[in-house]
Amino acid sequence: MANSGRRWQAGFDEATGVSVRYISLLCSGSLSVPTVTCRACSARFTPTAIEAGCFTSSPTDAHAWYELGVLSSYAFLGVNEGLSVTGFVEYLEDLTGEHVDDRQFVSAYFAYLRAADGIDSFTSLGVEGMDEGLFADCPICATTPTPPASEGVPAAEHVEAGSDVLYRPAVSCDAVTKLGHYSSCGLASSHHKPQISRYFGPVDARVESAHAAGRLNLRSALKETESDPWDSDPCACQSSLHCARPDASSASGPCDIHGVCGAVCMHTIPLHGLFCDMRTPEQFAYYLFMLDHLVQQRPDVQDVYIDFGCRIRSTWERYVAAHPQLPAEAKLRIMVNWMHGSGHDVACQLTNCGRYMEGAGRGIGEQIEQLWSMTKVGGVG
Ligand SMILES: [Zn+2]
Ligand SMILES: [Zn+2]
Ligand SMILES: [Zn+2]
Repeated sequence: MANSGRRWQAGFDEATGVSVRYISLLCSGSLSVPTVTCRACSARFTPTAIEAGCFTSSPTDAHAWYELGVLSSYAFLGVNEGLSVTGFVEYLEDLTGEHVDDRQFVSAYFAYLRAADGIDSFTSLGVEGMDEGLFADCPICATTPTPPASEGVPAAEHVEAGSDVLYRPAVSCDAVTKLGHYSSCGLASSHHKPQISRYFGPVDARVESAHAAGRLNLRSALKETESDPWDSDPCACQSSLHCARPDASSASGPCDIHGVCGAVCMHTIPLHGLFCDMRTPEQFAYYLFMLDHLVQQRPDVQDVYIDFGCRIRSTWERYVAAHPQLPAEAKLRIMVNWMHGSGHDVACQLTNCGRYMEGAGRGIGEQIEQLWSMTKVGGVG
């Protein structure tokens, strides 16, 4: 090379330099991290682990540097092939001739996963026994806490549905029209998968096929043929509930998606697979399909909050009667959420509002409104 004079000089600073163990797929061993000094201006630079393309065994005690290739290799082999950490560490030791501490490796591996956003489930974090279905995203609801074993009293066994549970998971359901879609809008980008698509699944598929078959209405959902299915609505609540429309109105308007119907847990975490696009204005059928999926996935969940819970409760009972294949142990308690409840008759509040229901605690049940509030930026107005 023509330019023989190097601008930079690398060296190890005895006073401030650190020695680490470097582990890569190419070479491994003790590494004195060099400090580079610019010959012209004397600027000095010592790379950190991240700058050197490595993750450390611990953010505070960074004495082992795992090169990214090692971590991404295990991300593939561990997740896809089920290779154990011990197996992989043995391979690393064989490859490098160096001892590798498997616990150090695990902490570096999870630091890498967190930073690389490669984790989207408790399973990939190595946590077992958590719900991988509806409640998979909520660290509180994904597992049912059981009392710890104390002297003479064994730890609670698996909690059966309907028994006295310490923690009652509950669900807050609602629809929002802001997340609608104009029928002629966005055709060019229709192939882009929305970020929230993981929350749409079985319920949305069922809504879509019912809509395509012209059967997205209450009568079809209840498998009823005679009479107006909501003629016999036994709810005595006289409150005017603008949202409690049993069936869709015929007005179609400029939208092909009239909004989104969905559910969250009591911690405002969306439930997987329960969301659906509304192909019509809001109607009971969306909620019946949601509750159907809920009881099939988690028959132990009982408490459900819907702002017109007093009206849909008897409809749900008729739906259950028309669908004997639903789990027999499922016993939903549909309640009106606290804030919406105050708009209902006093008599209705006392029998339907979660605030007055035994064992419901202070669930409130309005959490889905918080989710809608967060999604305002995505709305069409
Ligand atoms: Zn310089
Ligand atoms: Zn939760
Ligand atoms: Zn009511």
